[in-house]
Amino acid sequence: MFYSSYIEISESALRDNIRFLRRHIGPDASFASVIKANAYGHGISPFVTLSERCGVRCFAVFSASEAFETLRTRVHAGDIIIMGSIENDALEWAVENDISFYIFEMDRLEHAAKTARKLGRPARIHLELETGLNRTGIEESQLPAVVAFIKDNERWLQIDGVCSHFAGAESVSNYFRIQKQIDRFKRRCTWLRGEGLQFNFRHTACSAAAFNYPETIMDMVRFGIAQYGFWPSQETQMQYHIQKNASLEDIPATKLLRRVLKWKSHIMSVKQVRPGEFVSYGTTYLTTRRQTIASVPVGYFHGFPRSLSNRGQVLIRGRRAQVVGMVNMNMMMVDVTDFPGIAKGEEVVIIGKQKKAQITVGSFSDLTRDLSYEILVRLPSEIPRKIVR
Ligand SMILES: *Cc1c(COP(=O)(O)O)cnc(C)c1O
Repeated sequence: MFYSSYIEISESALRDNIRFLRRHIGPDASFASVIKANAYGHGISPFVTLSERCGVRCFAVFSASEAFETLRTRVHAGDIIIMGSIENDALEWAVENDISFYIFEMDRLEHAAKTARKLGRPARIHLELETGLNRTGIEESQLPAVVAFIKDNERWLQIDGVCSHFAGAESVSNYFRIQKQIDRFKRRCTWLRGEGLQFNFRHTACSAAAFNYPETIMDMVRFGIAQYGFWPSQETQMQYHIQKNASLEDIPATKLLRRVLKWKSHIMSVKQVRPGEFVSYGTTYLTTRRQTIASVPVGYFHGFPRSLSNRGQVLIRGRRAQVVGMVNMNMMMVDVTDFPGIAKGEEVVIIGKQKKAQITVGSFSDLTRDLSYEILVRLPSEIPRKIVR
């Protein structure tokens, strides 16, 4: 064991998730796999390899550097979409490599056309419309100028899609705001087509929108969190079950979406501690009897939240074991008094299943009040990722 912990990503889980999500969106909508933020902590490169095996051909990233890594890894022809950051000096690389990117302002549109003309091949673009998130996007008032410019540079601009992003589709508290965004988007698409603009893909939905607002599925869905096996929120999961008129017992959530990632380590060392001793830094944990304490070589440096000190749990031999004392930079201590004969080298699961027990990132995040997104993306890229069946 060269590394102190490993992340496994499961092919069968991803395959099942993609099958479920494709069935949900139907045969007329395309599946785009969102792999920004190191594929939500799963690792861009292994995740792209795995996704291609599962038939995925369209990847959406945030930045040019993520597109670079995706391009370097993939072996099949397909689409790569940059949804966010690409500076003008990287546009040439994108156009040369047939990578499409969002256009949310005139400046980038002009540079895209200029670059395409210089290279003698069209730039593939997605027009991002401002509908109410107020992050990036073309304002309604700018649309006539954008359309005029595109018509003047028709040969150099290929519009792959028209798109937008919602301001929190996972919570019903945003219902009116989302509804307004949907209306605006539809009206503007109609207007653009009326102006003679041609585009194949209207896409607005992320995971939550695809479930909570099925009309947003349109021509393509950009699936992030759900493909990795997480419901965007408990509300979304409940909503799904209500729509299907099925209780959580009828279709357990884990049957629909399966966690792709498992994070595991091993016991580094075991020691006996007398009653009345403090464990780890400071005085937050006092032994009450003779206890067996195991150290596990994973700490907050590795993305295990320090806020789980004295509160987190890990799995050993298919049972929960309590984290005791403060989580250190590189390790944590676990109470293994009730695991007779425990020895160093035994497997410790930090996130995922072991026998019948499971630690979900969800329960992790209930404790730390972080979103599962945040816990996942904080997993350092240095931890090796392994593809498993
Ligand atoms: C992150 C992101 C998504 C995917 O969101 P999920 O909630 O993870 O499904 C889709 N579209 C855009 C523009 C994004 O930034």
